[in-house]
Amino acid sequence: MTRSSTPSAAASGNVDSVENVLALLRERGGRVTSSRVLLLHALFDSRAHRTAEELGAEVQAVAPDVHISTIYRNLDDLERLGVVVHAHLGHGPATYHLAASAHGHFVCEECGAMVEAPDEIFVGLSRAAKSEFDFDINPHHFAMLGRCKDCR
Ligand SMILES: [Zn+2]
Ligand SMILES: [Zn+2]
Ligand SMILES: [Zn+2]
Repeated sequence: MTRSSTPSAAASGNVDSVENVLALLRERGGRVTSSRVLLLHALFDSRAHRTAEELGAEVQAVAPDVHISTIYRNLDDLERLGVVVHAHLGHGPATYHLAASAHGHFVCEECGAMVEAPDEIFVGLSRAAKSEFDFDINPHHFAMLGRCKDCR
């Protein structure tokens, strides 16, 4: 899997509702299937960080015949379209959320507590990485690990 940069559809296009995402899918020649519609509703219904398996379970609660491999494929396609992003919050499987609400994460190595870190926090680091190493950091893909105040 080579995903060096996330497509900017989420930034440029209007993908803040299921209907808008479906319009984007149609525009780009993507298929609008019932499993995709259910998956999008699951993603829009909650801002929680859910794995493909968890999203699959939510879809299967409504449509038991949707196979988990379909969920994975749909997530890949939606990610390519810039609608969804995944983040690694620790050792477990990746979690997915809508690209429109992408953010960084601080995760406690002791208790697993997670803080959503706004992009402003990474501005200084981004600038230094760029000017000193000509490197574009992606603060959304992997969490920053450390210790929360309760675990120190
Ligand atoms: Zn998040
Ligand atoms: Zn902790
Ligand atoms: Zn990844």
